[in-house]
Amino acid sequence: MGKVSIGLRGWRFDETAVFDTDGDLKPLEAMDHDTRHRVVRLRQLVGSPCHACWLIHGDDLDACHEAASVYGEPLHEVVLCEHHEPDFLYWFRERGGASYRGEDELQDAFHEWFADGNRAPEEYGGIEHVDTDPSGVPAAVGGSAADVERQATAVDLDELDFE
Ligand SMILES: [Zn+2]
Repeated sequence: MGKVSIGLRGWRFDETAVFDTDGDLKPLEAMDHDTRHRVVRLRQLVGSPCHACWLIHGDDLDACHEAASVYGEPLHEVVLCEHHEPDFLYWFRERGGASYRGEDELQDAFHEWFADGNRAPEEYGGIEHVDTDPSGVPAAVGGSAADVERQATAVDLDELDFE
């Protein structure tokens, strides 16, 4: 079963949990509780400012880049622009962030680390996405290139009926 991201990179869903057999997004009421919770939250997060930018620029939101990816648990997530995603991935993989997988504390822990002035090393490219969801499959089990191609980040969440 394939895993896909919708709206933003990072959070991953079982294809069959979010798409019907025609490849269209399912109505929310047809999704299971956890999936619905994340999808509803995603819709709120698309277009929101990157947390790392916000930590740097404060409420000068014009200076903040838009979210490109989201990690962590809904309502306690970390939202990142392209520029700052490597910092999160570095923290998650190399600086103990993975111990917060599935925990609400992941957000505070990353914010603290970043606000202390920590960054990924210059050469740290690492845009291989990590799985911050405890129910997810372990990251880097191969097939990731294919998974990236399957990302449905172009899906228009506005099409969802939230009534
Ligand atoms: Zn940023």
